[in-house]
Amino acid sequence: MSLFENTLAQIEKAGSLVNLDDEIKLILSNPQRRVRVSIPIRMDDGSLKIFQGFRVQHNNAMGPYKGGFRYHPQVDMEEVKALSAWMTMKCAVVGIPLGGGKGGVMVDPKQLSESELERLTRGYVRMLEPVLGPEMDVPAPDVNTDSKMMDWFADEYSKLKGKDMRGVVTGKTIEAGGSKGRSEATAQGGVFVLEEYIKDKGLNPKDTKVVIQGFGNAGGVAAKLLAAMDFEIVGVSDSQGGLVCSHGIDPAGLMTCKIEKNSVKNCGIHVEELQGIEGATCRVVTNEELLEQECDILVLAALENQITIDNADQIKAKVILELANGPITPEADEILNKNGITVLPDILANAGGVTVSYFEMLQNHDDKYWSEEEVAEKLKKTMVDAWKAVFENSQKYKCSLRNAAFVTALIRLEEKIKEKGLNKL
Ligand code: GLU
Repeated sequence: MSLFENTLAQIEKAGSLVNLDDEIKLILSNPQRRVRVSIPIRMDDGSLKIFQGFRVQHNNAMGPYKGGFRYHPQVDMEEVKALSAWMTMKCAVVGIPLGGGKGGVMVDPKQLSESELERLTRGYVRMLEPVLGPEMDVPAPDVNTDSKMMDWFADEYSKLKGKDMRGVVTGKTIEAGGSKGRSEATAQGGVFVLEEYIKDKGLNPKDTKVVIQGFGNAGGVAAKLLAAMDFEIVGVSDSQGGLVCSHGIDPAGLMTCKIEKNSVKNCGIHVEELQGIEGATCRVVTNEELLEQECDILVLAALENQITIDNADQIKAKVILELANGPITPEADEILNKNGITVLPDILANAGGVTVSYFEMLQNHDDKYWSEEEVAEKLKKTMVDAWKAVFENSQKYKCSLRNAAFVTALIRLEEKIKEKGLNKL
C-alpha cells in the first residue's frame, strides 16, 4: 500500500462510522492540485544539478492550504499527497480556518553545503511562486527544514513580489517575523494532549518510562519537556541509531553531545558521565530495537511507516504518542489496538505545530506580536479542546482515538464543504 492509500483507508474507516456522504469522500480522496517542478541549482563546484520538487494542495474548504515542506531522499508525489491530506484533517481536528497542503524536494540535505541549500530553497520558491501566497498556500518547516530556510523562503517570495510578503511562510525566526513558541510547538502540543490523557488515567510521570524515536524538531524538544515534567527518558534515537540507558537520559546533555558527535549513538559514555550515577550503563541500539524497548510511553517523532505489520506485535509500550506524520500503518494500528496499546494519533497529537503557524499568520497579518505566555495559553486551549472533541467521539462511536480524530475532522469538513455549495459544482 502506498502512503496515500493508507490515508484513504483511514478516511474510509472513519467515514463509515459517520455515514460520510459519498460525494464528500470522493472530493477528499482527490487532492485539488498537484505541482511537480524541476529546480536547477548551480553547485559549489560549478556543476549544474536538477532537483525534483513537489507541492500538493489537498483541500481548501476550511481556508488557505497549509503545511510544511521537507528535504529528504524519499520524497515523492505519493508521500506528499498523503501528507497534504493529513494536513487537511489535522487543521479540521484543531478547528483552525486552514486547509491542507504539503511539499518537499527529493534531496539528501546532508550532502549540500549551506549556500547550496539556500539556492535550493530560493529555487523552490521561484518555481512554485504562482501557487503560493498568504491567502493561497502557506508552507512551513517539516523534516530537515528549519527557521533559517523559512527566512530565505519569505525573502525570495518578497523579492519576487517587490514588497514585504513575510506571511507567505511560517516557522520563520523571530527576527524575520516568526512567532514565539513556534519551534517548540509540535512537541508542546503533543505534551498537552499526553497530559490530558494521563490525567484521565491517573498516571504519575515519576514512575513512567519514555522512549523517543527521533531527536530533531519534534523529538528533541519533547525529550526536554517530558524530562522537565519528571518523566524518565530511557531511550532515544536519531537517523543513525539509538541509545538505551538504565538510569535515564538528560536530554540537554545529550543534545549538546549529539551536536558535537553527530549522533546520539556516539554519546553513551558522555551520558554516563553526565548522570554521575555509579553503575549507570547505556547501550547502543538500532532504530528497530529502540521501538521494541520495555517502556510505558513510546514517542514516535521520526518518519512515516515505522510500526508496520512486521513489528507491531513486538511493541511493549502502553501508550504511543505520534509526533511524526503517519508513523503507524493501518494494519499495524489494528494489531496495536488488539493488544490494548493506546495511540494518541498524529492528526491530533502533532497539530500544535500548525496551530502556532496559524498564530504566526495572525501576528504577521496584524503586525502585532504576542508574548510567549500568550502563545502557550492559546495553544493549550486549542489542544485541550481538540482532545475533548476527539475523546467524546471515541466514546460516542466506540472507536479508537485515531478513528475518532478522523471522525471529528470529517464531520467538520462535510459541513463546511456542503455550506460552500456542492450543488454549485
Ligand atoms: N510540518 C508540520 C506538520 O506536519 C507543520 C505544518 C505547518 O506549520 O504548517 O504539521
